[in-house]
Amino acid sequence: MGRRYASPADLDTRLFHDETTHITATCCSCKRVVVVTPDKLPIDIDRHDFERRSVCKSCGAKWPQIVRYPAPKSWW
Ligand SMILES: [Zn+2]
Repeated sequence: MGRRYASPADLDTRLFHDETTHITATCCSCKRVVVVTPDKLPIDIDRHDFERRSVCKSCGAKWPQIVRYPAPKSWW
């Protein structure tokens, strides 16, 4: 797998960082929470792009709140 490494400037705009295991998207309106893992999306997907395209399946609201979760322990 040819994994791309981002420049520091990229890290501000990418949804997933290299150490990100998953993110949660919380609906601003109904508080529905969706967990998204990097294998579900392009690794270099733009955070803004993701937020713009996200639509809550429960209430139809857009622009969820995104929280990244770094790996809590080593892969080894
Ligand atoms: Zn909602």
